Amino acid sequence: MERRDVVIVGGGPAGLAAARRLADLGVVSVTVLEREQEAGGIPRHCGHAGFGWESHRRIWTGPEYAAALRRDVEGLDVRTGHTVLGIGDGVLRVQNRDGIVEIAAKQILLATGTRETPRSARLIGGSRPKSVMNTGALQAHVYMHNYKPFGRPLIVGTELVSFSAILTCRHVGIRPVAMIEENASTTAPWPGDLVARLVFGVPVWTHSRLLTIEGREQVEAVEILRGGRRMRIACDGVIVTGLFVPETSLLVTSPEVVLAGNVHGAVKTSGRCWREGSVAAQKIAWSLK
Ligand SMILES: Cc1cc2nc3c(=O)[nH]c(=O)nc-3n(C[C@H](O)[C@H](O)[C@H](O)COP(=O)(O)OP(=O)(O)OC[C@H]3O[C@@H](n4cnc5c(N)ncnc54)[C@H](O)[C@@H]3O)c2cc1C
Repeated sequence: MERRDVVIVGGGPAGLAAARRLADLGVVSVTVLEREQEAGGIPRHCGHAGFGWESHRRIWTGPEYAAALRRDVEGLDVRTGHTVLGIGDGVLRVQNRDGIVEIAAKQILLATGTRETPRSARLIGGSRPKSVMNTGALQAHVYMHNYKPFGRPLIVGTELVSFSAILTCRHVGIRPVAMIEENASTTAPWPGDLVARLVFGVPVWTHSRLLTIEGREQVEAVEILRGGRRMRIACDGVIVTGLFVPETSLLVTSPEVVLAGNVHGAVKTSGRCWREGSVAAQKIAWSLK
């Protein structure tokens, strides 16, 4: 079985910062395992600007930031296309294109990030057409595959990430019909609703909940409950945004497992996750002495 001093699971800002810091501290037996074919994490498909200041004192788009993080770890052992399936007694079960292998590690850093709650977990009724997706999937379509999945979607949720979804829509000329929020005000701080309406031309409906989705191949309409009244809204897609849940499926309580980035605590900026990765690396380096 292969043996490493440190295995980092997840090649996003937290994981790559940790790899860089460990190398700088002289820890050489370090491997990053990333399930995607390219490292960089969520920023890879966030085409808008707003990344890099806290870590590199630059303002980049997400893909530019991801590229900078990859440059930072050039020459280090970063294995993409490697999905960690489980962890037990300091051993990681890893799937790559050749099959399943095991790697033993003295220390494991879990930097697997977070994900938006999918439609399936939100108790939304109706049919299952293709054009229902979360912000991450929308951004992957738009920024990575240059594909416009709909023209007039409904946005569900008003977190900061929901505004990121509006920016992505604008990028390819998608015009959301509205943004809906179950609560009395937007989750993003004031003046979120004004920004959505006045800057982006998207009405924000509070006290509104998505009940059902209609349509076979593509969404044709949705039914919402708005202020106690049922309304049918014509639209051709639904973007379910936010309600982040940490990617904790690998979490085991064990002294050799450390967490960094969005896999724990509240959702943070990429710079904050980068810093957490760096700090965790420092602790790991000390513990190996
Ligand atoms: C739509 C959107 C817009 C955003 N906009 C901004 C912004 O403008 N500015 C900003 O600073 N932040 C922004 N953020 C937040 C920022 O992207 C995150 O805070 C940051 O990416 C978190 O870093 P991380 O390393 O913790 O996790 P992630 O970036 O999520 O990286 C985790 C990595 O772990 C990998 N992974 C997960 N499970 C496994 C496994 N089992 N095996 C192997 N690999 C695995 C994933 O593939 C992923 O690459 C945005 C986030 C979203 C969703």
